[in-house]
Amino acid sequence: MEPRVRAVAEELCREIESFTPALYSGADCAVLAEVLSRAEKACSGGRARAAARAISCGAHKQRGFADGADWLAKQAGTSRAEARTDLETANSLADMPATADAVAKGEVSIKEAAEVARGEAVCPGSEEELVELAKASGLGAVKEEVRKRALQAARAEDLATRQHQARYFRHWRDELGLVRFSGALPPTAGIGIVNRIEAEASRLRRGAGPAGRPGPFEAHAADALVSMLSGAGKGPSPRADLVVVVDLAAYRRGHAHPGEHCHIVGGGPVPVRFARAISGDAFLKAVTHDGVRTETVAHFGRHIGAELRTALELGPPPDFDGTRCTEPGCNRRYGLEWDHVDPVAHNGPTSYDNLQPRCKPHHWEKTERDRQAGLFEAPQPP
Ligand SMILES: [Zn+2]
Repeated sequence: MEPRVRAVAEELCREIESFTPALYSGADCAVLAEVLSRAEKACSGGRARAAARAISCGAHKQRGFADGADWLAKQAGTSRAEARTDLETANSLADMPATADAVAKGEVSIKEAAEVARGEAVCPGSEEELVELAKASGLGAVKEEVRKRALQAARAEDLATRQHQARYFRHWRDELGLVRFSGALPPTAGIGIVNRIEAEASRLRRGAGPAGRPGPFEAHAADALVSMLSGAGKGPSPRADLVVVVDLAAYRRGHAHPGEHCHIVGGGPVPVRFARAISGDAFLKAVTHDGVRTETVAHFGRHIGAELRTALELGPPPDFDGTRCTEPGCNRRYGLEWDHVDPVAHNGPTSYDNLQPRCKPHHWEKTERDRQAGLFEAPQPP
């Protein structure tokens, strides 16, 4: 007996073939795009589950494929590696009931389920939370959360050893003659470097000619890398290249206990010995943190002083993992600006509580919202 879903899927294909978007309203098409997204998730999950069973029965061999992943990749129009991951994920669904249910309903895609499986492997017991996160915020958010949990679950010393072993740098030429490269650096070396590149790139973009339209940030970052390596960069900016958050007790003891911080902002956990080693270095800066927010600096000018800036750039407690655009779902980490939640024009203070990081487009949007809300006039005295 054939599965009923086969007939329904074939009918869906025929319907989509004869569908003409121009005949429907924007609102109808928006709903359709949403429904099809859900169907696509349900289909990719169903496809992976069906393919896993077909392969376990050897059905791919009757179709002339020695390797099951090759057969699935050809059918699905994906790479072989993607097909392999989909199959592994389908097989792991047997042990992940909440994920299996969400995939079957089309609430979570097979790619999101793969991330949940990775998260469950490094940090058992996190499946249900990760599934909810996938439903609410999508693939990027789950990936980031799994990355964070994997780093937290690792011992800082082991992690440092593995990072050291995994470092590499290689380069090649592409069809345009460009010199391309790829590499991996431990955060103790890499975060300071990328922070300097981004600071220098921001400086170059601000100074980008009278022609007005500055190029993409990535292009300025490339120029920044070249000028830094040729010694022509402006050198360290007033902000620290690398910031380490470490609990005072851990710093004094020489190692961190579970739950204590010792990490590079934007770069994950590091051994306390690293925090100790850099605390005397001019380019690097260790910030000891005793679990209490100490920053209460506030004034009514626009200028953000160095102390307040350091506190702000640690990012929000309890993670202290650097700043990201405040706009939900944006997550941009570079080119951020400090937005006054209550605008300066409205007598809002320059204080820890009244400043939020936003990327340029979202800062602009927020400013427009404030303008329309009439917040650009100082409040009248009562
Ligand atoms: Zn943003």
